[in-house]
Amino acid sequence: MLVIGLTGGIGCGKTTVSQQFAALGAPIIDADTIARAALHTQSAAYPAIVALFGSEILDPNQDINRAQLRQQVSTHPDKLDLLEHIIHPLVRGQIEKELAHLKGPYVIVSVPLLLEKNYRDIVHRVLVVDCPETVQLARVQQRNLMPPALFANIMKRQLSRAQRLQQADDIIDNSGDLLHLHHQVLTLHQRYLTSTVGAR
Ligand code: ATP
Repeated sequence: MLVIGLTGGIGCGKTTVSQQFAALGAPIIDADTIARAALHTQSAAYPAIVALFGSEILDPNQDINRAQLRQQVSTHPDKLDLLEHIIHPLVRGQIEKELAHLKGPYVIVSVPLLLEKNYRDIVHRVLVVDCPETVQLARVQQRNLMPPALFANIMKRQLSRAQRLQQADDIIDNSGDLLHLHHQVLTLHQRYLTSTVGAR
């Protein structure tokens, strides 16, 4: 099975691209979805996250509240590193588990920090969804208002646009509208369906 690692800067359109591939029938493994599951009480990461941030980040049902967590990491940027150290191994382990069970011509594995956290060994091709930083910021702000300090901190922790593009096997330009995006996804879908595993 051809494993496509999908990545891109914050707000570049990973989720939107994943949804378009899924609509064409491709299986999707999404690191953000796995990371969100880590916030439930049953998760192996739960005790360490609560120990790091305290019980004030908990919902009345004891799950970790994402908005609270986001607020905490925007006011304590140093804790973002620690949070990633807790969640990252769990996410990677779950991705590997899901990959082992999937069958089909290809799968999309969406990981925001795919290049930064060195996922190259588990993907055959790196697909970068790209747009200018001004578009990133505008789309993130339109989706839900993010404190500028948090946006800046996340940008700082991600590779630059040029570094990311340099490591891409395939690139989707998401500076246009959704139809423009869809044409590119369709072209790649057809290519991936007939692609030889690992071919560059
Ligand atoms: P994050 O890094 O925060 O997880 P992401 O890379 O998954 O973000 P999306 O959530 O897909 O990015 O897109 C960010 C926002 O921009 C969303 O609100 C989405 O609906 C919107 N968006 C994505 N692509 C386009 C487009 N081509 N035209 C207009 N809006 C878009």
